[in-house]
Amino acid sequence: MVRYMDENSSILEKPPYSMASEAEFITRLRSLISRPLWVRFTMNKSSVLSVKKTPGRGLEVRLQHAFRAADEKTLHALAAYIQDGDPDSGVCLDAFLKENQGLFHLLVRKSSPRALEYKGRHHNLAHLLAEVARVHGLCVEGIRIGWASVTKSSVKRSSIRLGSWSAVFRIVRVHPVLDSPAVPDFFVEYVIYHEVLHSLCPVRCREGRTRRIHTESFRKMERQFYRCLEAVEFERSFVRSFLG
Ligand SMILES: [Zn+2]
Repeated sequence: MVRYMDENSSILEKPPYSMASEAEFITRLRSLISRPLWVRFTMNKSSVLSVKKTPGRGLEVRLQHAFRAADEKTLHALAAYIQDGDPDSGVCLDAFLKENQGLFHLLVRKSSPRALEYKGRHHNLAHLLAEVARVHGLCVEGIRIGWASVTKSSVKRSSIRLGSWSAVFRIVRVHPVLDSPAVPDFFVEYVIYHEVLHSLCPVRCREGRTRRIHTESFRKMERQFYRCLEAVEFERSFVRSFLG
């Protein structure tokens, strides 16, 4: 039985795509460039990289999200291109674009999600996200939340995905089955908390190693949820009755 599945486990985080978080990527890029650098990520189809030199403000760069999958060599080439317009770096960047065509295509604007519905009949996800952040002192700035859209299936379920995290869009989605008076606020918060932790623990793929999403340190943080024992207990009985 899979209790949580993450969009992390989709194509975006599978080899060869291993994407750094926006903050992590910007930090790495800034460490290679001696001038002040401002980065804005885009979902553009054709203009995937542009550099603007503004007097007194440094370099303003617009980059397609797919660059977050850059390896060390590509990152150095990118830094050289941004800083000096180094023509040699173009070869490396072209190779990266070619190798990752699929990822660039996947991340164009058309795949942007529709407006999110966060108000349910019984639970308001925006309020619960704010509560999770307040209780646990987490920064959730830039994270959006909404009820997942689900398709009905006549096939008997063997698992249920109660929450998901989209690293690309920075969205937490919650299964609408939890929008019930039988589900206490703290349990919805627990599901949200789990997904928000994914924003803090980006998935990494190391060559030759198996990728792990729910690492020991992830589980340790998860157990710090303020009502963890009750939430785990509730989950057990809820999932059991839901799956029959
Ligand atoms: Zn997870």
